[in-house]
Amino acid sequence: MALLDTLITAKTRHDWTLAEVEQIFSLPFNDLLFAAMNVHRRHFPANQVQTSTLLSIKTGACPEDCAYCPQSGHYNTGLSKEQLLALEEVIANAQKAKDAGATRFCMGAAWRSPRDKDLPVVLAMVRAVKDLGMETCVTLGMLNKDQALALKEAGLDYYNHNLDTSPEYYGQIITTRTYDDRLNTLQHVRDAGINVCAGGIVGMGETRNDRLGLLQQLANLPEHPQSVPINMLVAVKGTPLENTDKLDWLEFVRTIATARIMMPESYVRLSAGREEMSEEMQALCFSAGANSIFYGEKLLTTGNPDVERDMALFAKLGIQPERRDIHESELEDVRVPVTAEASPLYYDATARH
Ligand code: SF4
Repeated sequence: MALLDTLITAKTRHDWTLAEVEQIFSLPFNDLLFAAMNVHRRHFPANQVQTSTLLSIKTGACPEDCAYCPQSGHYNTGLSKEQLLALEEVIANAQKAKDAGATRFCMGAAWRSPRDKDLPVVLAMVRAVKDLGMETCVTLGMLNKDQALALKEAGLDYYNHNLDTSPEYYGQIITTRTYDDRLNTLQHVRDAGINVCAGGIVGMGETRNDRLGLLQQLANLPEHPQSVPINMLVAVKGTPLENTDKLDWLEFVRTIATARIMMPESYVRLSAGREEMSEEMQALCFSAGANSIFYGEKLLTTGNPDVERDMALFAKLGIQPERRDIHESELEDVRVPVTAEASPLYYDATARH
Protein backbone atom coordinates (compact mmCIF):
# COMPACT_ATOMS: atom_id res chain seq x y z
CA MET A 1 0.00 0.00 0.00
CA ALA A 2 2.96 2.28 0.66
CA LEU A 3 3.85 2.47 -3.03
CA LEU A 4 0.24 3.29 -3.97
CA ASP A 5 0.08 6.06 -1.38
CA THR A 6 3.35 7.48 -2.67
CA LEU A 7 2.16 7.40 -6.27
CA ILE A 8 -1.15 9.04 -5.45
CA THR A 9 0.28 11.88 -3.42
CA ALA A 10 3.61 12.40 -5.22
CA LYS A 11 4.59 15.74 -6.69
CA THR A 12 5.04 16.03 -10.46
CA ARG A 13 8.42 14.55 -11.38
CA HIS A 14 10.81 14.65 -14.33
CA ASP A 15 13.39 12.14 -13.17
CA TRP A 16 11.77 8.76 -13.63
CA THR A 17 14.03 5.74 -13.91
CA LEU A 18 13.07 2.82 -16.13
CA ALA A 19 12.93 0.59 -13.04
CA GLU A 20 10.37 2.87 -11.45
CA VAL A 21 8.24 2.96 -14.57
CA GLU A 22 8.40 -0.83 -14.70
CA GLN A 23 7.33 -1.05 -11.08
CA ILE A 24 4.23 1.04 -11.74
CA PHE A 25 3.34 -0.69 -15.00
CA SER A 26 3.59 -4.13 -13.38
CA LEU A 27 1.41 -3.43 -10.36
CA PRO A 28 -1.53 -5.78 -9.91
CA PHE A 29 -4.04 -4.43 -12.41
CA ASN A 30 -6.57 -3.23 -9.84
CA ASP A 31 -3.87 -1.47 -7.83
CA LEU A 32 -2.64 0.25 -10.97
CA LEU A 33 -6.18 1.33 -11.84
CA PHE A 34 -6.81 2.49 -8.28
CA ALA A 35 -3.67 4.63 -8.27
CA ALA A 36 -4.32 6.07 -11.73
CA MET A 37 -7.91 6.91 -10.87
CA ASN A 38 -6.86 8.65 -7.67
CA VAL A 39 -4.15 10.64 -9.43
CA HIS A 40 -6.66 11.62 -12.11
CA ARG A 41 -9.19 12.82 -9.56
CA ARG A 42 -6.58 14.88 -7.72
CA HIS A 43 -5.91 16.89 -10.86
CA PHE A 44 -9.03 16.81 -13.02
CA PRO A 45 -12.80 16.66 -12.65
CA ALA A 46 -13.59 12.96 -12.45
CA ASN A 47 -16.13 12.58 -15.22
CA GLN A 48 -15.12 15.00 -17.93
CA VAL A 49 -13.43 14.20 -21.20
CA GLN A 50 -12.04 16.77 -23.59
CA THR A 51 -12.91 16.29 -27.25
CA SER A 52 -10.87 17.31 -30.27
CA THR A 53 -11.50 16.97 -33.97
CA LEU A 54 -8.74 16.38 -36.46
CA LEU A 55 -8.67 17.46 -40.07
CA SER A 56 -6.02 16.52 -42.60
CA ILE A 57 -5.22 19.79 -44.37
CA LYS A 58 -2.66 18.20 -46.67
CA THR A 59 -2.78 14.48 -47.28
CA GLY A 60 -0.20 12.00 -48.55
CA ALA A 61 3.12 12.09 -50.42
CA CYS A 62 5.09 12.74 -47.24
CA PRO A 63 8.87 12.37 -47.72
CA GLU A 64 9.28 10.74 -44.30
CA ASP A 65 9.26 6.96 -43.94
CA CYS A 66 7.32 6.38 -40.70
CA ALA A 67 6.57 2.66 -40.94
CA TYR A 68 3.02 2.96 -39.58
CA CYS A 69 1.88 5.80 -41.80
CA PRO A 70 -0.28 5.47 -44.91
CA GLN A 71 0.66 9.04 -45.84
CA SER A 72 4.32 8.25 -46.37
CA GLY A 73 5.35 8.56 -50.01
CA HIS A 74 7.57 5.51 -49.44
CA TYR A 75 4.63 3.08 -49.34
CA ASN A 76 1.82 2.29 -51.68
CA THR A 77 -1.33 2.35 -49.59
CA GLY A 78 -3.71 3.56 -52.28
CA LEU A 79 -4.23 6.84 -50.46
CA SER A 80 -5.14 9.70 -52.76
CA LYS A 81 -2.77 12.62 -52.42
CA GLU A 82 -4.22 16.06 -51.87
CA GLN A 83 -2.93 19.60 -52.07
CA LEU A 84 -3.13 21.94 -49.12
CA LEU A 85 -6.82 22.59 -48.45
CA ALA A 86 -8.29 26.01 -49.11
CA LEU A 87 -8.85 28.27 -46.13
CA GLU A 88 -12.65 28.30 -46.65
CA GLU A 89 -12.81 24.53 -46.56
CA VAL A 90 -10.88 24.43 -43.30
CA ILE A 91 -13.15 27.03 -41.71
CA ALA A 92 -16.26 25.11 -42.81
CA ASN A 93 -14.88 21.91 -41.28
CA ALA A 94 -13.95 23.68 -38.06
CA GLN A 95 -17.44 25.14 -37.79
CA LYS A 96 -18.91 21.67 -38.29
CA ALA A 97 -16.65 20.27 -35.59
CA LYS A 98 -17.63 23.07 -33.25
CA ASP A 99 -21.33 22.45 -33.91
CA ALA A 100 -20.75 18.79 -33.05
CA GLY A 101 -19.28 19.83 -29.70
CA ALA A 102 -15.51 19.67 -30.31
CA THR A 103 -13.58 22.25 -28.35
CA ARG A 104 -10.28 21.88 -30.12
CA PHE A 105 -9.61 21.71 -33.84
CA CYS A 106 -6.42 20.00 -34.92
CA MET A 107 -5.02 20.40 -38.42
CA GLY A 108 -2.47 17.95 -39.75
CA ALA A 109 -0.24 18.26 -42.82
CA ALA A 110 1.91 15.43 -44.17
CA TRP A 111 5.15 17.37 -44.38
CA ARG A 112 8.71 16.85 -43.24
CA SER A 113 8.49 20.48 -42.15
CA PRO A 114 6.44 23.42 -43.44
CA ARG A 115 7.86 25.24 -46.47
CA ASP A 116 8.10 29.03 -46.50
CA LYS A 117 5.29 29.33 -49.02
CA ASP A 118 2.94 27.08 -47.02
CA LEU A 119 3.39 28.48 -43.54
CA PRO A 120 1.46 31.75 -44.14
CA VAL A 121 -1.54 29.71 -45.30
CA VAL A 122 -1.43 27.64 -42.13
CA LEU A 123 -1.09 30.79 -40.03
CA ALA A 124 -4.27 32.13 -41.65
CA MET A 125 -6.03 28.84 -40.83
CA VAL A 126 -4.95 29.09 -37.20
CA ARG A 127 -6.24 32.65 -36.95
CA ALA A 128 -9.56 31.75 -38.58
CA VAL A 129 -10.21 28.70 -36.35
CA LYS A 130 -9.27 30.74 -33.31
CA ASP A 131 -11.82 33.34 -34.39
CA LEU A 132 -14.50 30.65 -34.18
CA GLY A 133 -13.73 30.39 -30.47
CA MET A 134 -12.02 27.00 -30.67
CA GLU A 135 -8.64 25.95 -29.42
CA THR A 136 -6.19 25.33 -32.22
CA CYS A 137 -3.64 22.60 -32.73
CA VAL A 138 -1.48 21.83 -35.75
CA THR A 139 0.91 19.07 -36.68
CA LEU A 140 3.23 20.02 -39.54
CA GLY A 141 6.39 18.00 -38.96
CA MET A 142 9.64 19.51 -37.76
CA LEU A 143 9.71 23.19 -36.82
CA ASN A 144 12.54 25.62 -36.41
CA LYS A 145 12.55 28.40 -33.86
CA ASP A 146 11.14 31.08 -36.17
CA GLN A 147 8.33 28.88 -37.42
CA ALA A 148 7.32 28.09 -33.84
CA LEU A 149 7.31 31.78 -32.98
CA ALA A 150 5.20 32.62 -36.04
CA LEU A 151 2.64 29.99 -35.04
CA LYS A 152 2.51 31.35 -31.51
CA GLU A 153 2.02 34.84 -32.88
CA ALA A 154 -0.94 33.58 -34.95
CA GLY A 155 -2.55 32.30 -31.76
CA LEU A 156 -1.72 28.60 -31.90
CA ASP A 157 -2.60 26.81 -28.67
CA TYR A 158 -1.07 23.35 -29.22
CA TYR A 159 1.55 21.80 -31.47
CA ASN A 160 1.46 18.04 -31.95
CA HIS A 161 4.73 16.23 -32.49
CA ASN A 162 4.92 12.66 -31.22
CA LEU A 163 8.02 10.86 -30.03
CA ASP A 164 6.36 7.71 -31.39
CA THR A 165 8.31 5.10 -29.39
CA SER A 166 11.41 4.55 -27.26
CA PRO A 167 14.77 5.89 -28.48
CA GLU A 168 15.92 2.25 -28.78
CA TYR A 169 13.09 1.13 -31.07
CA TYR A 170 12.83 4.38 -33.01
CA GLY A 171 15.27 3.31 -35.75
CA GLN A 172 12.99 0.37 -36.61
CA ILE A 173 10.16 2.77 -37.33
CA ILE A 174 11.69 5.90 -38.89
CA THR A 175 15.00 6.44 -40.61
CA THR A 176 14.47 9.85 -42.24
CA ARG A 177 14.78 11.89 -39.05
CA THR A 178 16.26 11.26 -35.66
CA TYR A 179 14.90 11.15 -32.14
CA ASP A 180 16.93 14.28 -31.42
CA ASP A 181 15.24 16.07 -34.34
CA ARG A 182 11.95 15.39 -32.62
CA LEU A 183 13.19 16.56 -29.23
CA ASN A 184 14.53 19.75 -30.83
CA THR A 185 11.16 20.55 -32.39
CA LEU A 186 9.49 20.05 -29.02
CA GLN A 187 12.06 22.40 -27.51
CA HIS A 188 11.25 25.13 -30.09
CA VAL A 189 7.54 24.68 -29.42
CA ARG A 190 8.01 24.96 -25.66
CA ASP A 191 10.32 27.96 -26.03
CA ALA A 192 7.72 29.73 -28.16
CA GLY A 193 5.18 29.29 -25.37
CA ILE A 194 2.94 26.88 -27.29
CA ASN A 195 1.40 23.95 -25.44
CA VAL A 196 2.98 20.66 -26.40
CA CYS A 197 0.96 17.69 -27.57
CA ALA A 198 3.33 14.69 -27.69
CA GLY A 199 2.79 11.00 -27.24
CA GLY A 200 3.36 7.87 -29.21
CA ILE A 201 2.05 4.72 -30.76
CA VAL A 202 1.96 1.31 -29.15
CA GLY A 203 1.41 -2.03 -30.80
CA MET A 204 4.10 -1.49 -33.46
CA GLY A 205 5.92 -4.70 -32.52
CA GLU A 206 7.89 -3.00 -29.77
CA THR A 207 8.67 -4.66 -26.44
CA ARG A 208 7.12 -3.66 -23.15
CA ASN A 209 10.42 -2.00 -22.29
CA ASP A 210 10.01 0.21 -25.36
CA ARG A 211 6.57 1.27 -24.17
CA LEU A 212 8.04 2.06 -20.77
CA GLY A 213 10.92 3.90 -22.45
CA LEU A 214 8.48 6.06 -24.41
CA LEU A 215 6.62 7.01 -21.22
CA GLN A 216 9.93 7.70 -19.49
CA GLN A 217 11.00 10.04 -22.31
CA LEU A 218 7.70 11.93 -22.26
CA ALA A 219 7.60 12.27 -18.48
CA ASN A 220 11.24 13.35 -18.24
CA LEU A 221 10.87 16.25 -20.69
CA PRO A 222 11.59 19.62 -19.03
CA GLU A 223 7.82 20.14 -18.90
CA HIS A 224 5.27 17.40 -19.28
CA PRO A 225 3.41 17.71 -22.57
CA GLN A 226 0.07 19.33 -21.82
CA SER A 227 -1.52 16.69 -24.01
CA VAL A 228 -0.30 13.08 -24.34
CA PRO A 229 -1.92 11.10 -27.15
CA ILE A 230 -1.51 7.35 -26.78
CA ASN A 231 -2.25 5.73 -30.11
CA MET A 232 -2.88 2.06 -30.79
CA LEU A 233 -1.38 1.07 -34.13
CA VAL A 234 -3.87 0.93 -36.96
CA ALA A 235 -2.11 -1.58 -39.20
CA VAL A 236 -2.70 -0.18 -42.68
CA LYS A 237 -2.28 -2.41 -45.71
CA GLY A 238 0.72 -1.38 -47.75
CA THR A 239 2.74 -0.09 -44.80
CA PRO A 240 5.64 -2.14 -43.38
CA LEU A 241 3.59 -2.72 -40.21
CA GLU A 242 0.52 -4.12 -41.94
CA ASN A 243 0.97 -7.62 -40.49
CA THR A 244 1.99 -6.62 -36.99
CA ASP A 245 0.42 -8.71 -34.23
CA LYS A 246 -2.23 -6.95 -32.22
CA LEU A 247 -1.19 -5.66 -28.82
CA ASP A 248 -2.98 -7.23 -25.88
CA TRP A 249 -5.71 -4.85 -24.64
CA LEU A 250 -4.40 -5.05 -21.09
CA GLU A 251 -1.01 -3.71 -22.16
CA PHE A 252 -2.76 -0.74 -23.68
CA VAL A 253 -4.83 0.03 -20.57
CA ARG A 254 -1.72 -0.36 -18.42
CA THR A 255 0.08 2.11 -20.69
CA ILE A 256 -2.71 4.65 -20.23
CA ALA A 257 -2.76 4.20 -16.45
CA THR A 258 1.03 4.49 -16.17
CA ALA A 259 1.02 7.65 -18.32
CA ARG A 260 -1.66 9.13 -16.05
CA ILE A 261 0.37 8.44 -12.92
CA MET A 262 3.64 9.74 -14.39
CA MET A 263 2.14 12.87 -15.95
CA PRO A 264 -0.63 13.75 -13.52
CA GLU A 265 -1.45 17.19 -14.93
CA SER A 266 -1.48 16.24 -18.61
CA TYR A 267 -4.49 15.41 -20.70
CA VAL A 268 -4.02 11.75 -21.66
CA ARG A 269 -5.71 11.17 -24.98
CA LEU A 270 -7.15 8.07 -26.59
CA SER A 271 -6.25 8.63 -30.20
CA ALA A 272 -5.80 6.44 -33.26
CA GLY A 273 -7.00 2.89 -32.93
CA ARG A 274 -10.06 3.75 -30.85
CA GLU A 275 -12.37 2.50 -33.57
CA GLU A 276 -11.10 -1.00 -32.97
CA MET A 277 -11.58 -0.79 -29.21
CA SER A 278 -14.69 -2.18 -27.56
CA GLU A 279 -16.82 0.06 -25.36
CA GLU A 280 -15.59 -1.94 -22.38
CA MET A 281 -11.97 -1.24 -23.25
CA GLN A 282 -12.62 2.46 -23.73
CA ALA A 283 -14.47 2.56 -20.41
CA LEU A 284 -11.45 0.98 -18.72
CA CYS A 285 -9.18 3.55 -20.37
CA PHE A 286 -11.33 6.36 -18.93
CA SER A 287 -11.13 4.67 -15.52
CA ALA A 288 -7.36 4.53 -15.97
CA GLY A 289 -7.25 8.30 -16.43
CA ALA A 290 -7.68 8.95 -20.14
CA ASN A 291 -9.52 12.26 -20.32
CA SER A 292 -9.35 13.34 -23.93
CA ILE A 293 -10.40 11.80 -27.22
CA PHE A 294 -10.31 12.58 -30.88
CA TYR A 295 -13.69 12.33 -32.40
CA GLY A 296 -15.34 13.08 -35.69
CA GLU A 297 -15.51 11.26 -38.97
CA LYS A 298 -11.84 10.91 -39.75
CA LEU A 299 -8.62 10.67 -37.81
CA LEU A 300 -6.26 11.96 -40.46
CA THR A 301 -6.61 9.02 -42.82
CA THR A 302 -7.95 6.23 -40.65
CA GLY A 303 -11.51 5.82 -39.39
CA ASN A 304 -12.78 7.00 -36.02
CA PRO A 305 -16.04 6.14 -34.26
CA ASP A 306 -18.71 8.58 -35.22
CA VAL A 307 -19.84 11.35 -32.96
CA GLU A 308 -23.18 9.78 -32.04
CA ARG A 309 -21.55 6.57 -30.91
CA ASP A 310 -19.11 8.51 -28.75
CA MET A 311 -21.83 10.62 -27.22
CA ALA A 312 -23.90 7.50 -26.51
CA LEU A 313 -20.92 5.91 -24.75
CA PHE A 314 -20.33 9.09 -22.74
CA ALA A 315 -23.99 9.09 -21.70
CA LYS A 316 -23.80 5.44 -20.63
CA LEU A 317 -20.74 6.18 -18.52
CA GLY A 318 -22.00 9.48 -17.13
CA ILE A 319 -19.13 11.32 -18.77
CA GLN A 320 -19.56 14.91 -19.83
CA PRO A 321 -17.61 16.39 -22.70
CA GLU A 322 -15.51 19.21 -21.44
CA ARG A 323 -16.93 22.32 -22.98
CA ARG A 324 -13.62 24.08 -23.39
CA ASP A 325 -10.40 23.62 -21.46
CA ILE A 326 -9.79 27.24 -20.88
CA HIS A 327 -6.81 28.57 -19.06
CA GLU A 328 -7.53 31.05 -16.29
CA SER A 329 -6.02 33.93 -18.26
CA GLU A 330 -8.48 33.35 -21.10
CA LEU A 331 -11.58 33.09 -18.98
CA GLU A 332 -12.88 36.60 -19.39
CA ASP A 333 -12.30 36.69 -23.15
CA VAL A 334 -13.92 33.55 -24.36
CA ARG A 335 -16.55 32.51 -21.88
CA VAL A 336 -18.94 30.31 -23.85
CA PRO A 337 -22.54 30.69 -22.76
CA VAL A 338 -24.32 27.37 -22.34
CA THR A 339 -27.87 27.90 -23.52
CA ALA A 340 -31.02 26.05 -22.60
CA GLU A 341 -30.93 24.47 -26.06
CA ALA A 342 -27.49 23.03 -25.49
CA SER A 343 -27.25 19.29 -25.12
CA PRO A 344 -27.72 18.18 -21.52
CA LEU A 345 -24.46 16.31 -22.02
CA TYR A 346 -22.49 19.53 -21.98
CA TYR A 347 -20.83 20.74 -18.88
CA ASP A 348 -19.90 24.40 -18.80
CA ALA A 349 -16.25 24.14 -17.87
CA THR A 350 -15.91 27.89 -18.23
CA ALA A 351 -18.21 28.57 -15.30
CA ARG A 352 -16.61 29.00 -11.90
CA HIS A 353 -18.08 26.40 -9.55
S1 SF4 B 1 3.65 10.27 -39.63
FE1 SF4 B 1 3.75 12.36 -40.40
S2 SF4 B 1 5.90 12.62 -40.92
FE2 SF4 B 1 5.60 10.41 -40.77
S3 SF4 B 1 5.13 9.77 -42.87
FE3 SF4 B 1 3.18 10.18 -41.84
S4 SF4 B 1 2.68 12.29 -42.37
FE4 SF4 B 1 4.85 11.99 -42.79
